[in-house]
Amino acid sequence: MRKFLTLLLTAPLATLACAQPAPPPPPLAPGAPKLIVVISVDQFSADLWDEYRPHFTGGLARLGGGTAFHNGYQSHAATETCPGHSTILTGDHPARTGIIANSWTDQSAPRTDKTLYCAEDEHVPGSSSSNYTVSPLHLLVPTFGELVKARWPQSRSVAVSGKDRAAVMMSGHIVDQRWYWGGKSYVTDVPGASVPAVVPKVNAAVTAALARATDPLAPPPYCQAKARVIPIEGGGKPVGAGQLARAAGDVAGFRASPEFDGDTLALAAGLVDEMRLGRGPAPDVLAISLSATDYVGHTYGTEGEEMCLQMLELDREIGDFLALLDSRGIDYSVTLTADHGGKDVPERERLAGAANAARADATLRASAIGPKLVAQLGLSGPGLFGDIGGDIYLDRKLSAADRQRLLAAAVAAYKAHPQVEAVFTADQLKATPIARTPPTAWSLLQRARASFNPARSGDLVVLLKKDITPIPDTTRYVATHGSPWDYDRRVPILFWRKGMAPVASEAAVETTDIMPTLAATLGLPLAPGSVDGRCLAQVAQCPAAAPAPPERGK
Ligand code: ZN
Repeated sequence: MRKFLTLLLTAPLATLACAQPAPPPPPLAPGAPKLIVVISVDQFSADLWDEYRPHFTGGLARLGGGTAFHNGYQSHAATETCPGHSTILTGDHPARTGIIANSWTDQSAPRTDKTLYCAEDEHVPGSSSSNYTVSPLHLLVPTFGELVKARWPQSRSVAVSGKDRAAVMMSGHIVDQRWYWGGKSYVTDVPGASVPAVVPKVNAAVTAALARATDPLAPPPYCQAKARVIPIEGGGKPVGAGQLARAAGDVAGFRASPEFDGDTLALAAGLVDEMRLGRGPAPDVLAISLSATDYVGHTYGTEGEEMCLQMLELDREIGDFLALLDSRGIDYSVTLTADHGGKDVPERERLAGAANAARADATLRASAIGPKLVAQLGLSGPGLFGDIGGDIYLDRKLSAADRQRLLAAAVAAYKAHPQVEAVFTADQLKATPIARTPPTAWSLLQRARASFNPARSGDLVVLLKKDITPIPDTTRYVATHGSPWDYDRRVPILFWRKGMAPVASEAAVETTDIMPTLAATLGLPLAPGSVDGRCLAQVAQCPAAAPAPPERGK
């Protein structure tokens, strides 16, 4: 009642020009926080969370003392950054957000480059998927921040990230401030947004820091024990015993170090202060994506000294950020999760007993299989578009009859490859309903269905066997994610608020459940069936169960 009165008293006065006074904003749920912080730690698998949980003493230890789910799922098959971030604050699977992958093929694209990046506007003249204009164009559903702003017009939605696609997918089309690393500094794509004073300050500090080399981090005994040099196949540098020092000007080294997350959090903290987030008349939403864990994983794998140092620094940095929010007296809640899990380098996995861990065969590339099939069938052109596994597209220039022959031949060729687990056609996926059972019970077909959007997905989807890493050439990155297997799907989902009793839940929940749960904590109504996720009764006072929504067939 008191919050309701406060809202009434602080609601903007109707101007004389209006014929009728504006209605007061709708009330918040009792005890709703003033600032909702949502943190995505890129590539923070539940395997890493489980392994390091006993060693955390800072921010991650604090968040683990709220309601902690270590069986959280990015339930879908294409476990990449863009789809993963698109689920967290929309409540929807990629099938519905439209973000089926980091990039996909669109043969009708209005330019010569037929690859579309998930967070770009391909209509910008002269653009390509690698030299693009950042845009939320491809995100098909509203985000939590947008719904909050629609209901409480004085609410602010802010996103800060190491990656453009993470910031875009967590905040969507309507956002007050959105800043992400642009290669040399933090930049925005939001037209007309004022530039907060903290942005040039942080950018100047980053530029100055980048100009200097950094010292190695001092590993505690727990990390020292992991230091072991692992040779890498395929041309990559050995990994395993590194302390994340970098040379002056080494941007790749900067990104793959805790320094990067520290700067992203500093920018977020500066925006909290400058915009007075959590201290306005209506609740604010702050989405943060921390990218360094992902770059460390790709560059060094997940089980060496490097990731150990990254985990402990991440814990400390998040702790510092939460301490700043405390010192400002803000009433806030934090939800932390990840966009996908991750997997170690196969060379070290084999030493740890995973005998079948291997790198994908380069002959699995669509650019290798396509021309072979085209020659066999007496066709012309490249035949197939796509990468190793995932969405594979048939050349639209072929006649419908030739495409049918090529489809049958491609399905057979992929299925015959010893590293392929399953191949699904678009027709098969279209005929499959979105699963509503716990994500632990989903078949591979159901996982692929949650990534399938009929307007954007491939003509066939190829899933590799468990423990196959789809990086044949290791000169840039040595490890990755993206598979339908649980090491890439399972992520922690942590809900924390001051005074919350600690609960360590074994329940299998989904990242799509985060948005409806946060909606309930604010008293934001969601139309029945409007999101895939479910409100988590362990965390929030959920609205009474509505009748099950009609099954979405396509
Ligand atoms: Zn990612």
